[in-house]
This record gives sequence, structure tokens and C-alpha cells, in this order.
Amino acid sequence: MVEHQLRGRGIADERVLAAMGEVPREEFVPEAQRRDAYADGALPLSHGQTISQPLMVAMSVEALQLEGDESVLEIGAGSGYQAAVLSRLAKKVHGVEIIPELVDNAKRVLQSLDFDNVEIHCADGRKGWPEGAPYDGIIVAAAADEIPPALVDQLKEGGRLVIPVGGRWGQSLMVMTKRDGKLEEKELCRCIFVPLVYGG
Ligand code: SAH
Repeated sequence: MVEHQLRGRGIADERVLAAMGEVPREEFVPEAQRRDAYADGALPLSHGQTISQPLMVAMSVEALQLEGDESVLEIGAGSGYQAAVLSRLAKKVHGVEIIPELVDNAKRVLQSLDFDNVEIHCADGRKGWPEGAPYDGIIVAAAADEIPPALVDQLKEGGRLVIPVGGRWGQSLMVMTKRDGKLEEKELCRCIFVPLVYGG
């Protein structure tokens, strides 16, 4: 997976490649999908959700340019896989997931594998996770029509926000850098993520 799907397609950050080589993706996918855990695609989770394609995880994570001392927020933690990858690259990771069953499962898997710098919270990620703010990096793993303002508020000056922006059937994976309170935008690639839903 690392050599063909990631390095071979332009992922160059050695720390990202090493983290993705270390985190056992099969532990995060449902039993029935384990055979395909290292295949080049997204895989179904329960509740109509998906664990993102490894390349999308790598691109999103690489765009944060983490060095090891950062505090990071992930919105749409799903299986907990991307949070686990982030936990190898940053000091502290907060993940927010709106579906309680996925939260329980992600917590259980992360705990069983001793990822102890990750916390998963059950909440509407559009509001971020103020208790852990400000963040050096924020990754949104679900598609948004527009950027939730709370996420910009919770991002440090100079911090990066990675988010798929667009409608149901296709988005641009954007990396935004906060400078003087405003966002500088860059498109990483086209992508298709499940939508970020409105919580209560
Ligand atoms: N990063 C995940 C996969 C993300 S799939 C992994 O590594 O497995 C997108 C996830 O976003 C889904 O689990 C979905 O339930 C969640 N989601 C959608 N809307 C949300 C919201 N408003 N707040 C938090 N999570 C949300």
C-alpha cells in the first residue's frame, strides 16, 4: 500500500509514509472487509459511512505538514483510522464523530492498540471541539458546502485546515492556511467524500 498507492502517487513525506505503514488498517475496518483492508479504495463502515481511500488519508494528512509537536482536530472520525495515523504524527489528536456507534467502536479499537494521545468525542463537528482549541491543524473527512466558521475560529494563526468543499457528487480537497485571520486556499485534488451532516 505504502509503496504503490502512496509513494508511487506522489506522497513524499517520510513521516506520513511511515505512519501509514505502521497503523494496522485492518483493525479499523469491519470484519467482512478485512481482506480488502489494504486495497486502493474507500471501504464501507456501518451506518452508510466509509473509511476513506488510503491515498485521500495520506494527502490530507501530508497537507498539514506536521512535525510532531502539534495539536490536531479531525472532524468525521468514523472508524478512527485517520485519527490513529494523525496520532503518530502529532502530539495530541481530538476526533469528533456524530454517530454514537462509530464513536464507541473507534474508541475501543484505538484503546486496544494503545493509541493514547487520541480522544474521540461524540458531537456535531461543525462546531469543532472548543475544549481542545486552538489547533495547529484541522482535517475534515466529510464534504461541506461551505466552511464551518467555528473551525476557522479554532485554528491557530498559521495553522492549516484540510476540507473537501463542494456538493454531494464531487468536491475539491482544499488546504487552507490561516493568515491574519483569513484563509489562503489551495486545491489538492478532486475527491468524493460522504457529506458532513447537520447535527442537533
Ligand atoms: N476519517 C474516517 C472516515 C470518515 S467518513 C476514518 O478514518 O474512518 C466521514 C465521517 O463523518 C462519517 O463517519 C460520518 O458519520 C461523519 N460525520 C458526518 N457529519 C458529521 C458531523 N456533522 N460531525 C461529526 N461527524 C460527522
